[in-house]
Amino acid sequence: MVIYFDNSATTQVSEKAAAKALEVMRQNYGNPSSLYSLGLAAEKIVQDAREKAALAIGAQAEEIYFTGCGTESNNWAFKGLAEANRKGKKNHLVITAIEHPAILQTAKALENHGYQVSVVMPQKDGRMKASDLLAKVKEETLLVSCMHVNNETGVIQPIAEIGCALAALSHKVYFHVDAVQSFAKLPIDVKKNKIDFLSASGHKIHAPKGIGLLYVKKGVRILPLLNGGGQEKGMRSGTENVPGIAAFGVAIAEALAQRKIRMQGMQAVCEALCTGLQKEQIEFYSNSQMDENGVPYILNLSFPGAPAEVLLHYLEQDGICVSAGSACSSRKDIFSHVLQAMDLPKERLASSLRFSFSGSNTVEEAQIVAKSLAKAVREIRGLRMK
Ligand code: PLP
Repeated sequence: MVIYFDNSATTQVSEKAAAKALEVMRQNYGNPSSLYSLGLAAEKIVQDAREKAALAIGAQAEEIYFTGCGTESNNWAFKGLAEANRKGKKNHLVITAIEHPAILQTAKALENHGYQVSVVMPQKDGRMKASDLLAKVKEETLLVSCMHVNNETGVIQPIAEIGCALAALSHKVYFHVDAVQSFAKLPIDVKKNKIDFLSASGHKIHAPKGIGLLYVKKGVRILPLLNGGGQEKGMRSGTENVPGIAAFGVAIAEALAQRKIRMQGMQAVCEALCTGLQKEQIEFYSNSQMDENGVPYILNLSFPGAPAEVLLHYLEQDGICVSAGSACSSRKDIFSHVLQAMDLPKERLASSLRFSFSGSNTVEEAQIVAKSLAKAVREIRGLRMK
């Protein structure tokens, strides 16, 4: 038996999404660019998914572009905007220190091309302060990027506050949101929150890997990363991944329809894990926010005295899959950059685990994990005492 508590890494494809992908691969396998009915049917499937995606964030269908993954969407927003503004004077970006490497490395790549990048630190609780980001904005700022939900801690970032403040400035500063960990899970309104670009990824919401999207606000000019046959209105060439797109559409519709019930289920699982650990009376610390500033589907805990990678091995023997916040307890450079930015002490950095839930996880699973974890922590701490 496997207990899968690593749903922020990826998710199991839902039955309906998998069935849709298979149907498209076997029956509606036309190329959306073809003019006969098999092609037109494929085009309709793509359009249908685009409408579902738009609905999830309050956008118009024509503002949604399908990509290969969240990483591509992030790269495209940054590099496509930079390319479109090559002749302008704006050469400054503002990002947060807790972004996913798909943002951090993209910003670094632009830095190598002459951009200046301001990296803003979070508060100790892992939440960014909107005013700290805004304080870095200047005349030359082209883009501000802030993720919606942090993938390691589940802390919700103040995107509405940032977006509205940027929109109120006298000069245009574009706003990008990496919503890979919140898309179709939390309500998002790109119009109300004044978002110009938003990235999402299928495999985090029970669609297959290899499909993502970028929302680009109508009227915002961005150049394509891929040139070629002119698919996606010339913005993302390459024959569309129709099975992936179709499955993404189905997964989005399922996520929206089941949002409340999934959220309640994950909340119960999260609470059961914490209560279970408390009952076991082992010392642990939460690096997540258990209130309205955090999501119940990502829980980051530290177990000082028990190195994360050793804990992972113990849990794996019991068929439990979770993520480590650090790869090795002895080298600082491979501690989580997010937890380091939160200025956690070394023993918490070295012993952090991320538990991330889906709507299919159960309270019983959480109870089993709490027991297994407590046993592992006790054993490891005991061994280290000797
Ligand atoms: N952004 C965030 C916040 C993520 O958590 C991830 C993946 O974990 C990505 C971007 C990259 O998404 P993808 O795996 O689709 O490239």
